[in-house]
Amino acid sequence: MDLSPILNPLNEAQRAAVTAPLGPVLVLAGAGSGKTRVLTHRIAWLIQAEGISPQGILAVTFTNKAAGEMRGRIERLLGVPGGALWIGTFHGIAHRLLRIHWREARLAQGFQILDSEDQQRLIKKVLKAAELDESRWVPREVQWFINNNKDEGRRPEHLKDGSDPSRAQLIKLYAAYEQACARNGVVDFAELLLRAFELWRENAQLLEHYRRRFRHVLVDEFQDTNSIQYAWMRLLAPPVPPGSEADAAAASHPFVVGDDDQAIYRFRGARAENLQQFRRDYPQARLFRLEQNYRSTSNILEAANGLIAHNASRLGKNLWTSGARGEPIRLYTAFNERDEAEFVTHRIREHAAQGGLRREIAVLYRSNAQSRVFEEAFLSARVPYRVYGGLRFFERAEIKDALAYLRLISNRRDDASFERVVNLPTRGIGAKSLDALRAAARGAGSSLWEAAGACIASGALGSKAAGSLHAFMALIERLAASTATLVLHEQVDQVLKVSGLLEHYRREKADRGEVRVENLEELVSAARGFTPEGSELSPLESFLAHAALEAGEGQAEQWEDCVQMMTLHSAKGLEFPLVFLAGLEEGLFPHQRSLGDLDGLEEERRLCYVGMTRAMRQLYLSYAEQRRLHGIDSYGQASRFVREIPEGLIEEVRPRVQVSRPVAVGRFRAEEPEVAGVRLGARVRHGKFGDGVILNVEGSGAHARVQVNFERQGTKWLMVQYANLQPL
Ligand code: ATP
Ligand code: MG
Repeated sequence: MDLSPILNPLNEAQRAAVTAPLGPVLVLAGAGSGKTRVLTHRIAWLIQAEGISPQGILAVTFTNKAAGEMRGRIERLLGVPGGALWIGTFHGIAHRLLRIHWREARLAQGFQILDSEDQQRLIKKVLKAAELDESRWVPREVQWFINNNKDEGRRPEHLKDGSDPSRAQLIKLYAAYEQACARNGVVDFAELLLRAFELWRENAQLLEHYRRRFRHVLVDEFQDTNSIQYAWMRLLAPPVPPGSEADAAAASHPFVVGDDDQAIYRFRGARAENLQQFRRDYPQARLFRLEQNYRSTSNILEAANGLIAHNASRLGKNLWTSGARGEPIRLYTAFNERDEAEFVTHRIREHAAQGGLRREIAVLYRSNAQSRVFEEAFLSARVPYRVYGGLRFFERAEIKDALAYLRLISNRRDDASFERVVNLPTRGIGAKSLDALRAAARGAGSSLWEAAGACIASGALGSKAAGSLHAFMALIERLAASTATLVLHEQVDQVLKVSGLLEHYRREKADRGEVRVENLEELVSAARGFTPEGSELSPLESFLAHAALEAGEGQAEQWEDCVQMMTLHSAKGLEFPLVFLAGLEEGLFPHQRSLGDLDGLEEERRLCYVGMTRAMRQLYLSYAEQRRLHGIDSYGQASRFVREIPEGLIEEVRPRVQVSRPVAVGRFRAEEPEVAGVRLGARVRHGKFGDGVILNVEGSGAHARVQVNFERQGTKWLMVQYANLQPL
């Protein structure tokens, strides 16, 4: 057996970790030291050298994209398909388990996943039913309360109100929300984890089965696991009590890798303390440290090391590189946020002009809202870019409409989907009838679908509404029956056609409908290209779960050569030859919220460390002396993080000669058409869609149309004549 492909690409410390004897292992090491590589090669080693069946291995990554990459890498190392391996995020794996064991988990068979937006909508409904005012009970805060408790493993019945009436109300809302989820057969993200945990905790036999099956549990980015994820892992791979080493053959072998300096999800309940907890719970765990960084130049690495040294609570580690010193880190002090974007644009064009690829470049920022100004600048300079975490394909309205039909077909009790499409296309089922249905459903504790059936039977609705409703229900039943035997993409295609959705958008005015029709067609191709994982789900169920869980992440595969834009949080684990870290101002980064809070400040510093260590060859830092964000002007001071970088590593880039400049007009190329005061790159407000940026202008006079990227609604084509856009 040739183990050299697995072992040769490793240094000595990495090799020691990869080939460690069975038993719990913790790899604690800094950025770019090969943790992910070690974890991947360990899996290959287990299969090849230890003779472990791929079925016995469970690997947890931080994103679905990382899971896909890991699977591919293992396949290449072993030269065989890695289909039998369970690799996924905690959420993905929990979901898979719940699909197999929906009965034991007391879930509806065709349960659907609520994304964050769906969850908020359902919370609003719960608030309405309880006749509570949304301004007093802010849905986002209720959502936070619920998710936070779930992440800590707490159900409403575990919570004490401490005689605090508003806490008592929140607990009641949590309970009411749980009931609504059960009624609708839906499950939110936090519920996936908690339910999967409870599934094992309450089913000893099932747990035993999985313990026997998955003796090898490997977790990447371990520093960002939360309480419930840790508890879940510990349940699956329980520590061997001291003195019972005789059972070693039946023991589990957790293998976790992480970096406490890269813990950036504390605000969402992650516990970097899990690293120490792991050592306490598994005292026999072997600890490996990797100290050589293979990613960055020594300038970049020294700067990052110097920065993170300002954090007090660290486990501490060395990190060095044998790589070249490289270029200094460049710091640009911008006049304002537009100047900052122009500077970055300019450097990107230089890079491209010298034959560099755009995909080697990442623009990283603290907050999503910062992307807009860069987008404008890139658009007017024709620099292709892709925003990660922007409005994603599966989140677009028309796609959600189509998915709602598909979801109803697989689960009639999905109320959110029912409401979304019961009157789309219009079938004469008005708000009044819907209100009546909701009341009936509430009264009977049933789903809207059941309530609709009951209302039709009892004559509680007007005859016209009852007729339309009946027709709608018959349509869904018919679709379910007629598509049951079709392959997935034909199934989707049929549903789009027979439901009338495609026709509905086709008839929609102007180009807006056209884009939507294109998107719907894209959904059929997405279904065609989709390969379901595992066999416990029907292809349709699997596809719907994919849409909810993996929204947007798949984009990266269809790489055009474009600049990568993302928040620092989504850059974790990635690397790029050239990195721009923008918006380094006090109040923005570190974020205002964390200025007065030491733990918060340290988390921000780790975030900055993560950002800097993404860079392989070149790192640019920038900040603006004046910035308009969320419509508010502020005057920035350079972030303390800039000052914390050791001297001699940074070179200041002198601003180009300029004093002040008009901010809006005249920035965009003069030859761009200007229609009715509508300018490329201008910010506008639309009565229905909210605020957005003009991406494209076409035609003139009565035929002029614009493409606007709305912050909430995505990109739309509008007729200028009718759109009534207000310049901002
Ligand atoms: P992060 O903390 O950012 O997640 P990491 O510790 O997981 O980083 P990897 O992503 O595994 O690090 O590796 C960083 C880079 O170094 C990758 O490009 C990887 O291919 C390369 N690398 C890792 N180990 C070696 C090695 N022994 N020889 C050459 N290159 C290596
Ligand atoms: Mg990694």
